[in-house]
Amino acid sequence: MSSSSKDVYLVIGGSGFLGRHIVQQLVARGDAVSVFDIVQRYHDVPFYSGDISEEGQVAGALRKSGATCIIHTASPIHGLDDPALYWKVNVDGTKAVIAAAVANGVPKLVYTSSAGVVFSGESLIDVDERVPPPEKAMDAYNESKLKAEEMVLAANGKGGLYTVALRPAGLFGPGDRQLMTGLYQTYLRNQTHFQIGDNTNLFDWTYIENAAYAHLLAADRLAPPSPEEVAKLKEELHNALPS
Ligand code: NAD
Repeated sequence: MSSSSKDVYLVIGGSGFLGRHIVQQLVARGDAVSVFDIVQRYHDVPFYSGDISEEGQVAGALRKSGATCIIHTASPIHGLDDPALYWKVNVDGTKAVIAAAVANGVPKLVYTSSAGVVFSGESLIDVDERVPPPEKAMDAYNESKLKAEEMVLAANGKGGLYTVALRPAGLFGPGDRQLMTGLYQTYLRNQTHFQIGDNTNLFDWTYIENAAYAHLLAADRLAPPSPEEVAKLKEELHNALPS
């Protein structure tokens, strides 16, 4: 597979919780990285201000940054009562990111989806990416994240673009502005003495640095196999088949 050190990264949503950790890890390993976001919170890497639902703005940032790998983490936060915003950013915006990537010859796109896209309200135990999404999404956030994920995966291998989508569960760790704020609001509202269920429910959490690292690993592996690798894979497949 191609070496990650050759890639130039554009982290879309790089001012956010996850995006910032991805930027920091890329910088720490010596990679060239820029950020595209509607908000600027940091000033240590090149920043492009824009909205992903504007394809021209994404395309401009791709050209100026010379990006060869997009890591797209942008989304409105979960829990807003605004389906139109989720659709605009996650669906139309992701469509614009894919189109801008293909038009500008960017070969790699890593998309941050969400574990919520397969959550139906029922327990999910020991499932993996093969579990189908529910017929009805839990809410507009999850519906739009699923639609975006499907578009990203459908774009794989087309127009010279290779894609992958990751589904983190709830993220926690340094820089969090959602989870702890929510817990603190619950505390302030004096709601901590309620218990729902029998206290045996489990929930998946992912430490933010692990989630960020997973994006770097996905980007590193996201490349068409070389002719030698294709030959090796074919030989392995041939040997695995019954004679
Ligand atoms: P965040 O809100 O901290 O970061 C998202 C960033 O995207 C923000 O900086 C925001 O300004 C930017 N953004 C939003 N709309 C934009 C637009 N139209 N154009 C450009 N930039 C835009 O959120 P986060 O917690 O870092 O989440 C990152 C990603 O991970 C999201 O895609 C989210 O759906 C996914 N995710 C988060 C969690 C979690 O627990 N936080 C869990 C699973 C998946």
